[in-house]
Amino acid sequence: MIKTIKVDESACVGCGACTIVSPEFFEINANGVSQFKGEEKLPIKEAEKEELLIKVAQACPVKAISIYNENGEKIFPK
Ligand code: SF4
Repeated sequence: MIKTIKVDESACVGCGACTIVSPEFFEINANGVSQFKGEEKLPIKEAEKEELLIKVAQACPVKAISIYNENGEKIFPK
């Protein structure tokens, strides 16, 4: 189960790929970099969420999006 999403702002180049793949979860903030919007109110199943978030992280050209599981282990990128 995915527990934490981190966007490395110093690595993000603001290309917007993550916001195209998943506008539900990501947006470009006032600093011109991506930020995770949170997920609490989204009506999305856990399995679908995991699949989508991995897809988003894979779409990032600079691997600025990191995903951690409930044990604090990094799932992506490995
Ligand atoms: S895809 Fe990566 S580099 Fe592009 S805006 Fe998202 S986090 Fe930043």
